Amino acid sequence: MARIPHVIAGEKVTDAERTQPVYNPATGEEQHELSIASVQTVEQAIAAANAALPKWRATSLTKRADVFFNLRQLLKQRTPELAAIVTSEHGKVLSDAAGEIARGLENVEFAAGLMHLLKGERDEQVSTGVDVHSVKQPVGVVAAITPFNFPVMVPLWMIASAIACGNTVVLKPSERDPSASVFIADLFREAGLPDGVLNVVHGDKVAVDTLLDSPTVKAISFVGSTPIARYIYERAAANGKRVQALGGAKNHMMVLPDADIDMAADAAVSAAYGSAGERCMAVSVVVAVGEVGDTLVPAIESRMKQLRIGDGTDPASEMGPLITREAVDRVASYVAGAAAEGGTVVVDGREQSFDGDGFFIGVSLIDHVKTDSKVYRDEIFGPVLAVVRVDSYEEGLEIINSHQFGNGTAIFTRDGGAARQFEFDVEAGMVGINVPIPVPVGSFSFGGWKDSLFGDSHIYGPESIHFYTRSKVITTRWPNPDQSKVDLGFPSNS
Ligand code: NAD
Repeated sequence: MARIPHVIAGEKVTDAERTQPVYNPATGEEQHELSIASVQTVEQAIAAANAALPKWRATSLTKRADVFFNLRQLLKQRTPELAAIVTSEHGKVLSDAAGEIARGLENVEFAAGLMHLLKGERDEQVSTGVDVHSVKQPVGVVAAITPFNFPVMVPLWMIASAIACGNTVVLKPSERDPSASVFIADLFREAGLPDGVLNVVHGDKVAVDTLLDSPTVKAISFVGSTPIARYIYERAAANGKRVQALGGAKNHMMVLPDADIDMAADAAVSAAYGSAGERCMAVSVVVAVGEVGDTLVPAIESRMKQLRIGDGTDPASEMGPLITREAVDRVASYVAGAAAEGGTVVVDGREQSFDGDGFFIGVSLIDHVKTDSKVYRDEIFGPVLAVVRVDSYEEGLEIINSHQFGNGTAIFTRDGGAARQFEFDVEAGMVGINVPIPVPVGSFSFGGWKDSLFGDSHIYGPESIHFYTRSKVITTRWPNPDQSKVDLGFPSNS
């Protein structure tokens, strides 16, 4: 069985002491062995990143931009290969894997514009004969810690901007689908990135804690579940690092009585069950206002019957397996408990059977869900859609705003005034108006509110340039004998 290596200073290295299997979720088979990094291995990666830093931050902006232009071409050319890697370890269908790569490409394209993004500011004559300008300099070694559900896009959310800003990186991808990160590191190298600028280490808490505690690592970008995000934020901040830690979600889609029912039903099914619900922007709750639930729920149910679930490599499949057997059991337990919590199980995904040992489960729809139930409160992260019935917009809004998470949300309506009010009122970082998964395009930034993000910077886009740079402000005066004198007062403008 092939062992997936770390990438340190351009070399492929493995740890022999601890390994972990990587599965193909569609078959349930172990397909690779993963090296799990020791403290020493992570320290080597940090040292490699630190050694590469002086040269990389001194590399001209044009040469840095070249890497991203080259990378864009390579990623486009190699998309089918990379998508196949994603599908074999994550399980999502090939077209969805290619979609994830296309969204990640937006971050590469954004980074290619670094000449513009890194521009400083200048003010002349702030005082007589005195000018001020500012520059943006890299923070240093950056650690990027990523989840399993987007093994290409989420690493690119972080590493594209971090590297463009002149930092060097240690990437710690999810141990469940790690091969995509090694492939990306190879493509960066082929695109002209010097060795050591991007290092990849695989591992678990040992690797993560080493990154969080290293005085050499200056910034931490994390995406994953909320309990780990909170932990990362607290530990990294206590160590004096800047940190952005994006957590879990429970995304609500409010449907008003005037909505286009077919459009809303199509959107709910696509956004709830795409990628088997393993998206941080998946819709997991429909808030049906007034009578709309009576037509919307049957419309969703009829669409669910058409869904084809199977191996992601089969072009006929629209939804693949979950990531692990434990994830299947977890999702099943929520569906099993839903009726006792007061919900009406309209479609029970546990009833669908699948050949083989893959980590499959069917899609579930639960109506009349109570807001104090676990099905409503918890992030299930699987193909389960809850419907909460409410009498009014105000009641629906109150429910959404009271939830622990505030990642994305959407409203479906034909009423522009209602949509505008929702945009104004709702407590979430990303809002869709008749758009169910409002992941911002790469020229904006991505981030949730409440327990969906710890830290004050959103990820990728303009906020990432702020996060990955330190600003330096320079005040300049050139010799002028007429103005030179001894003055012990605090410098003031004149
Ligand atoms: P996870 O929190 O289990 O793992 C994320 C990363 O943290 C992995 O690299 C993992 O190795 C590491 N990790 C796990 N346990 C750790 C520990 N005890 N100490 C230190 N590090 C640890 O998340 P996951 O299951 O890989 O991904 C799914 C979660 O990610 C969901 O909650 C989903 O909502 C969230 N997510 C959020 C966003 C967002 O943008 N907000 C995007 C994608 C995924």
